[in-house]
Amino acid sequence: MGIIIDGKTLAKEKREELKKKVQELKDKEEIVPGLAIIRVGNDPASEIYVRNKLKACQEVGIHAVEQHFDENASEQEIIERIEFFNQEKSIDGILVQSPLPKNLNEKKIVSFILGSKDVDGFGINNLGHLLANQEQVLAATPLGILHLLEKYEIPIASKNVLVIGRSQIVGRPLAIMFLNRDATVTIAHSKTKNLKELTLQADILVSAVGRPHFITADMVKEGAVCIDVGINRENGHVIGDTDFDTIKEKASFITPVPGGVGPMTVATLLENVYELASTRKKEK
Ligand code: NAD
Repeated sequence: MGIIIDGKTLAKEKREELKKKVQELKDKEEIVPGLAIIRVGNDPASEIYVRNKLKACQEVGIHAVEQHFDENASEQEIIERIEFFNQEKSIDGILVQSPLPKNLNEKKIVSFILGSKDVDGFGINNLGHLLANQEQVLAATPLGILHLLEKYEIPIASKNVLVIGRSQIVGRPLAIMFLNRDATVTIAHSKTKNLKELTLQADILVSAVGRPHFITADMVKEGAVCIDVGINRENGHVIGDTDFDTIKEKASFITPVPGGVGPMTVATLLENVYELASTRKKEK
């Protein structure tokens, strides 16, 4: 049976460590890290995610503010708020909670966040640096996955890595991060044919699709590392993309859902806020 990667515990450790570092930054530099979260409309999942982020910030001593707009807000109003936060010295990171209502151009709105405050790493500037292998702010979910692999001392260089999913927030940046760490990377997506042929080659298999039972045990190579990013609801339970119970018998390492990748995302976001704050110049 494979080792179950305990994201929950690692995330807790990271938050505790961060709490100390935040306190030190306050004591030594009089800097309180600041995060601004912009939420638009009433998407129930977004409401929960934002609440969790605010709570986690509070726990580690990060000053977090939520700016909520109703679903009829105009792009201009939101952009003006972003520009305000861009100038605001007490704010080190700005994020726009996805998804935005359909009538708003999310990519355009996010592009107004200063590269130096783009705490999610979704902006073109940070993505360009990632592609050029000059990594700066890295998106929290993929970076959290790398932290998990590091913690369990799972090597990446020269491994065959398959990333399923090519979204701008998970699959795409994660694939480039693996490439930057010398893996041989394949990206699969909705137009990929013969997926099973690819999954069976993978030493590290990442599923970021969002479909329950998408990866079954017969698709997994013996001894592979299986990372499940998916969040799906089935019969009142949260499950991932992979058939955990059967795959854990075959994999060398596997992340559970919940308790794997998910908790690491928030902890890594907090770390990103801290890192941005620690580069802030103390006001004279
Ligand atoms: P998305 O919908 O933007 O992307 C899904 C990807 O799956 C697409 O790139 C698509 O090409 C690919 N796909 C769809 N059908 C496929 C098929 N048949 N074969 C191969 N690829 C296929 O989603 P996303 O935002 O990247 O999120 C993916 C999943 O991860 C969702 O369940 C989401 O809830 C979850 N998620 C979890 C976290 C976390 O912290 N745990 C963070 C972000 C997203």
